[in-house]
Parts: sequence; structure tokens; C-alpha cells
Amino acid sequence: MRLGTRIQLYITLMTVVIVICVNMLVYFLFKHYALESELNQLENRSINIMEEIKASENQTNAEIMNHGYILSDGYISVVNQDDIAIVKFATDVSYNNMEQDYQPNQYKKTIEYKGHYFAMVSLPIVWKDGEVTNLQLFENVDFKYESFQILKWILMGSTLFVLLLIFYINNIIARVITEPILNLIQRIKETKDTKAYQPVEIQKNDSYELKVLSRAFNDMMYKLRAHDEKQQAFIMNASHELKTPITVISSYSQMLKRFGKKDEKTLDESIHAIHDEAQKMKYLTEQLLYFAQLTESKTERHLEYVNVACIVYEMVERMSKVYPQTLNVHNHMQQGEIWLDVPSFKQLLHIFMDNAHKYGKTRIDMTLTETHTHVFLSITDDGIGIPEEEIPHIFTRFYRVDKARSRKTGGSGLGLSIAREITTQLNIKIKVESQVNKGTTFTLIIPKGGPNETIH
Ligand code: ADP
Repeated sequence: MRLGTRIQLYITLMTVVIVICVNMLVYFLFKHYALESELNQLENRSINIMEEIKASENQTNAEIMNHGYILSDGYISVVNQDDIAIVKFATDVSYNNMEQDYQPNQYKKTIEYKGHYFAMVSLPIVWKDGEVTNLQLFENVDFKYESFQILKWILMGSTLFVLLLIFYINNIIARVITEPILNLIQRIKETKDTKAYQPVEIQKNDSYELKVLSRAFNDMMYKLRAHDEKQQAFIMNASHELKTPITVISSYSQMLKRFGKKDEKTLDESIHAIHDEAQKMKYLTEQLLYFAQLTESKTERHLEYVNVACIVYEMVERMSKVYPQTLNVHNHMQQGEIWLDVPSFKQLLHIFMDNAHKYGKTRIDMTLTETHTHVFLSITDDGIGIPEEEIPHIFTRFYRVDKARSRKTGGSGLGLSIAREITTQLNIKIKVESQVNKGTTFTLIIPKGGPNETIH
């Protein structure tokens, strides 16, 4: 159901319920008080009659009848304890026998008799023979019921009128509310049809809510656009990275096809080159997959309370067998137990140690220090260093300071961007210090309490 229709329907329904309730209350209150006043008047009159009868020593039927004339349209009777009317007087013959059964107490009510409405009062009085009887007075109140009927029609008519009026007004209100929203939808549709990720125009006379909605939509558009561009660049870079080894492999296989089988030297060279390029492709695809996994799944990490120095020693032990450089650990920590996601931390160490190995010369130093809240782990090499102006870019995907050298060392250009992603997720900060031809130091600032602890 449309928003406008819903608003119109709900408000109309609510108003109708309220109007009906109020009208019913008015009707029943009016009816109650109108009849009550009629009954009170009749009660007063019957008390007067009773007083007069009491005062006259020998009350007669004629006296009672005289009083009956006081009633313009009604019936008066005296009913004994056997429910027999010993005296009765009616202004109309059809009212005869209307009397009610004897009751010892005084009461008043309205009754319906032969299609007419009557107000009636019954009073216990002592009759001339000493017997207690009921003096019953009935007065025709048809005129009151007629006015109730008129009131009922007036109220029903006014309810219908209010209903139509409210329905019409609501229609206008719903249109005023929904029109700007429909306009915005129209603008969004036009945006979608014309150019992708085009923001909608915010107009001066737009309502506050509409401006907020448009701004939120535009923000989403900008984010989607940036995400799309990033994705596009990533695909372009990845395919570019894969293109080079594929070209090399394809050229060598061509060469093998032509001369390889006969020429021992070409055969040897081609096999080596193809193997090297295949290795690079394997490394690159592994890195790409790891990066995709890392950015896709930002799931809960499994934290362990471990000694960070032990992990560093373990990694150094393992890498010293593969790297030609000397690896040294300088542990200045007293304790060293911290909350860590061990597999991700090892991956991080691997990236920095691998870079120190690729771009370093003779030695790699791992230094561990601590403060009350954090552990500082520095990985220092004595290699080519990074020019100061390049440092801000090295964490960008596929960025390399020296393309040629990086290719030679087998780098993918993804290592540091993976490191940035991991450190963001683990709430670890990276500090870079470097001097060209002297060396580079990457320092990891690790919160002792795990990823949820903030760095000050
Ligand atoms: P790669 O796989 O090419 O090493 P990274 O993302 O790990 O990619 O590093 C990005 C670039 O940063 C490298 O290509 C290199 O130019 C530079 N770099 C990273 N670490 C070092 C280092 N320890 N010494 C000198 N240059 C470095």
C-alpha cells in the first residue's frame, strides 16, 4: 500500500472512531439527563399528591382522580399488595391496566407500553383502610424519545460529514507529505537511468528530512563509486601483474617449440625462466587470494595470551635457515605476555622480515621493547632504504619504489598492503623510518590488551 494511502486511511479511521465515541457519549448523556429531569418532576408531583392525600382525612377516589387531571397525558393508579389497582385514572383509555406490581419501596423508571414511552414513579402510601399500597404515576414522554431520535440523526449526519471532510483533508495532507518523497524517487530514477553513481541534486526548498535523505543517498553513491573504482584498479593491476609472467612463459615456450629440443642451452634457459615465472605467479595468486580473504572476512579473531618474544625467536629460527643475512634478536622486555591473534601476527612478521631480506644486505635486527600498555617490535635492515617522499605510498596496493628491482626480488607489491589490513584489524600501528642506502626500520606498536585496546 502506498504511504499516502496509508496515512490517509489511518488518520481517517482514527478520527472516525473518535467522532463516533464522542457522539455516542453526547447522545447517551443527553438522553440520561433529559429522562432524569422528567422522572424527577414526576417524582415531585407524586410526593405532592401523597402529602395532600395524607392531609385529607377521608381521601376518596374522586380526589385521586382530580389529581389525575394534573397529568396532561398519562395514568394514575393505587395498587394494593395483591397487585390489584383499587383506584385508576387514565387520560387515554388505551393506558388502562398499565399499573406495575406492588413494591414496598419507592422507585422511578421509564417503561414502554403499547408502543408509547412513559416516565413512571411508584410511592408506598397508607390507604384509608390502613393498608400500605403503591401510588403509581405514569406520564407519556413520547415527545422526549422523538427528540432523541432527531438528535441521533443529526449526530449520524454530522459523523458522515466529518468523515468525508477528514478523508478529503487527509488526502491533501498525504499528498503534501509524499510529494517530495516521490520527487526524490523520480530524481533517483533519473540518476540511475542516466549515469551510474550520479548524486541527486539537493534543492533549497527541500524539507529537512528530504535533505538528510538526499545527503545519505549521495554519500552512498560516492562510497559505491570509490569502491567500484578501487575494485576496477585492483583488477587492472592484478591482471597487469599476471600479464608479465604469462608473456615471459609464452615467449619461452614459443622458443622451446622452435629450437629448444635441439639447443641444450635454450632448453636449459627456458626451463629456468618458465619455472621462475611460474613461481612468481604462484606467489602473486597466493597473495591475491590472501588479500581477498582478509578484506572479505572481518570475522571475530581468536586471541591467545602468548609471549611475543617467543614468537619472534621462533620466526627468526625458521627464517635464518633460508635468508643469507644474519638475524639478531634484542629482547629488552621484562615480561612479554600479551593478547595476540597468533597466525595473523606471524603473517605480519613474515611480510616485514621478507622485505628486510629482499631489500636488505647483511643483517636483520629484531628489537623488542615495552611500555606499560604496549609492546614495540622493530625490524631493521641495512639495505637500500626508501626515499622519504615514497614512504606514504608504500602501503598502496601494487606500489613499488623500484619496479625493476622488485620484479627481480619476486615481490608482488601486495605485501605491505596486506600488512596494513592486518594491523588495522589487530589495532597495531606501524611506524616507518628509512634512509636511502643505509636501511629501513619498521616498528610495530602492539597494544598489550589485544585489538580492542586503544593506542594513546
Ligand atoms: P613487494 O612485494 O614489492 O616487496 P611490498 O608491498 O611488500 O611489495 O612493498 C612495497 C614496496 O616498498 C616495495 O616494492 C619496496 O620498494 C618498498 N619496501 C618495502 N620494504 C622495504 C625495505 N625493507 N627496504 C626498502 N624498500 C622497501
